[in-house]
Amino acid sequence: MTESLILGLTNLIADAARVLTAPAVVQKLSKDFFWYSPILKKQLESKVGDIVVQPVNVDEVLAVARFAILNKIPITLRGAGTGNYGQCIPLQGGIILDLSLMDKLESITPDGVAICQPGLRLAALETEAVQQGWELRMYPSTLAKASVGGFLGGGSGGIGSVTHGTLRDFDTVRAFEVVTLEAEPRVVLHEGPAVHEILHAWGTNGIITRIWFALTPAKQWSQFTAAFDTFDHAFLFSQQIAESADWSKRLVTVFEWPIPTFFTPVKQIVAKDKSLALIMIESSQLQRLTESAKAAGGEVTFSGPYTGPRTQPLLSDYTWNHTTLWAIKADPQWTYIQAGFSPTDCMNQFRLLRARFGDKILFHIEFMRNADGLTIPGAIPLVYYNGEEHMNELITYCREIGVFIANPHVNYLEDAGRFRADNIQLKAKHKYDPLGLLNPGKMISFHPEPQA
Ligand SMILES: Cc1cc2nc3c(=O)[nH]c(=O)nc-3n(C[C@H](O)[C@H](O)[C@H](O)COP(=O)(O)OP(=O)(O)OC[C@H]3O[C@@H](n4cnc5c(N)ncnc54)[C@H](O)[C@@H]3O)c2cc1C
Repeated sequence: MTESLILGLTNLIADAARVLTAPAVVQKLSKDFFWYSPILKKQLESKVGDIVVQPVNVDEVLAVARFAILNKIPITLRGAGTGNYGQCIPLQGGIILDLSLMDKLESITPDGVAICQPGLRLAALETEAVQQGWELRMYPSTLAKASVGGFLGGGSGGIGSVTHGTLRDFDTVRAFEVVTLEAEPRVVLHEGPAVHEILHAWGTNGIITRIWFALTPAKQWSQFTAAFDTFDHAFLFSQQIAESADWSKRLVTVFEWPIPTFFTPVKQIVAKDKSLALIMIESSQLQRLTESAKAAGGEVTFSGPYTGPRTQPLLSDYTWNHTTLWAIKADPQWTYIQAGFSPTDCMNQFRLLRARFGDKILFHIEFMRNADGLTIPGAIPLVYYNGEEHMNELITYCREIGVFIANPHVNYLEDAGRFRADNIQLKAKHKYDPLGLLNPGKMISFHPEPQA
């Protein structure tokens, strides 16, 4: 790193303490949860930025953008760094733009739209929203740490998605302002369908600096688990809860045995040899759910109120990609894939995968609603890592039998799922980042125009 880089950036930022150069700090802020994938771990371990800048307002973001263009320096955006595809790991060094200090909640409108900066933590937003009678429509299981901007840049859905779909659906992301990396950077407002140009583009085509994020009226929730003799029983019970509009739910998860054995802090929810259904249900329906689970042969292992992100035990800490974390803690050979099974053919797909891959794959289902209102058995199955070839064979086979895969073992948007078939993220990159300075290498179909 050159002195001129440090000096140039320090001159742009009101407080020099927000330009970070200590190698250990830069190293730490260059990383996320990429090590979930043994394949990415090998590829990305050595990648590191040159310097970290922590802006506190849009003027500082614009100033850094101008500086990067002038000096042709890459910028990698960072929220809280909880992504698990190596999304915010710089492949070509340069500036890490850490947006965590831009964390203000401006307001929540009377019709339930939060207006905030990108670094605002989701848990802080949820807590304030509940005070005002609203709650997040959906959030990742990393709620406590993850930022709103990082969720929009790299996440997709989570707790709440069984009712409200993903970030792409139902107009949840109403609008945002984005700083561009055009010859003269500017702030562009993206509203309605235009948000899809930038949403889930891994910070490759614009810097989100202000967000309009739709909430939903708050409800009283309860946490519930029931153990079933077989995975099929647990799955079929949960599927009807997830699909039926009669049930008001925030989370419907299924773990095949022995996944629950990985959840060491909550042994009380685990029943030996049994698969587990984990549900967040509106409290007024808890009694009915208990009776329904028993009638379906389930053994209720936990039932209690949810009182916010500090609830103990917080059962969402075992769902979505936290499940993988508990598995890795138990045995580092476990890793995962991100999948979507067919709502009508899933039992057959489960059987085919079991027949071919045996207990090297364990089913972990997260039900989600899609944009057409259909309930999909989304899934983050655990895979016992047996080399890259085995992983690729599994992914290819999944796709052959109609299982959607967002491949978490690649570090570029196109194969990691949710790259838009209409290419609007790529078109936006050409428009807003023609030099390809934003998170270079993560959108591989982009090739910058040759410079004169
Ligand atoms: C244990 C665990 C569980 C998880 N569970 C879920 C889950 O349930 N659902 C889910 O969707 N994800 C999940 N994730 C992934 C991740 O936690 C979420 O997507 C989270 O919302 C990312 O937020 P962040 O602030 O950490 O973003 P970061 O990791 O910092 O950034 C994510 C991406 O967004 C880009 N970005 C950051 N800020 C901006 C900005 N202002 N403008 C444009 N781009 C930006 C970054 O460059 C990066 O490409 C999980 C990860 C882990 C490790």
